[in-house]
Amino acid sequence: MRAPSTRAWVGRLSVLCLMLLVPRSAFAYFFNEHEIIGNAAMQRFVRGGGSPTSPFWQLLPLTYDTGTAAYAFPYLSRYRSSIGYGTINALSGDHSVSPLALQEHLLTPNSRILRVIALQRQFAASHFSSAPDGQLAKLDPEYLKLAIRNQSHFYLYGKGANEHLTAFDPADVDRLLNPAEAQEVMHRLHGTNALNAYVTIHAAAIRLAEMAGRASDETAAKEWLYYAFLYNGFADHFLQDAFSSGHLLVKRTMFSMLVNNKALHDFYSRHGTRVVNANGEIWTAFGDDTFNQPHDGYLSNRSLRAVSYPPLTAEAERVVTAVTASLADLADAFERARTNAERPLGETTNAPS
Ligand SMILES: [Zn+2]
Repeated sequence: MRAPSTRAWVGRLSVLCLMLLVPRSAFAYFFNEHEIIGNAAMQRFVRGGGSPTSPFWQLLPLTYDTGTAAYAFPYLSRYRSSIGYGTINALSGDHSVSPLALQEHLLTPNSRILRVIALQRQFAASHFSSAPDGQLAKLDPEYLKLAIRNQSHFYLYGKGANEHLTAFDPADVDRLLNPAEAQEVMHRLHGTNALNAYVTIHAAAIRLAEMAGRASDETAAKEWLYYAFLYNGFADHFLQDAFSSGHLLVKRTMFSMLVNNKALHDFYSRHGTRVVNANGEIWTAFGDDTFNQPHDGYLSNRSLRAVSYPPLTAEAERVVTAVTASLADLADAFERARTNAERPLGETTNAPS
């Protein structure tokens, strides 16, 4: 066996240094956590949906996969990997830069993304939230690059909701629907923050659902609706990230990333932080690798009969509820456009002004 050259060792060491500093502190929920959240939300959305005979539900681009017990995209599942809504959530931003890049990787035999999914499923079967970073980086070199470049998994340190949305450009919503321009817009969004990334890509998904509702033939409606779900799946990755405590209070700059980002991120993720929403509800949010954990909640009960373990903790329930509401926006946009088809395209968008 030939010994690795000095250059190869330097390469390996720099990858190791980057892995110690960047991944896991760069992404919010881990792969299998994103997948569980997205699949649970999709199941709730479909099962709580309107009349199964209405056009929206007839055109739904997902079918129930009894093997994985989740709704999956048949179109994206051609290479023996069942691609659920949660799978799209998990890969977005962490392994793919855009919805269209992700689509292409899923439809390419032996792609790095298909290998990542296969690896993550092995670890999920053993109850890990994710495969180890080293194995992921080996399969997918983009993983490390995105960890460094993509800031949009995080909130802006010390800023309010409005300040997060100053980066929002309504023109980006249209540009995201143009395959030749979408990649450039996504690169720009990756330099902003979780709220702006979510709002912009979600607005594009709503626009696509409207186009489906307004389409005059079923083939076009089906196609637009499929893209609406693909884009929304990408957007919901950042919505899910916005609930992770490790991503609320960490100042993301290249310098702070090297000195204290990871330690702070891990601290807040593990020990939680008190948060409040616009409705005045207060709770302790936890972060990566802690999704749906009860955090010794039984210690606050004074009766054995009060100890309970529902399928989702109250905290997990909030994330799944948010993603379900995000999906419901697509159904609303579709129905609104269908019943108001005389309106010009785009006029009914929910994009913030
Ligand atoms: Zn993320």
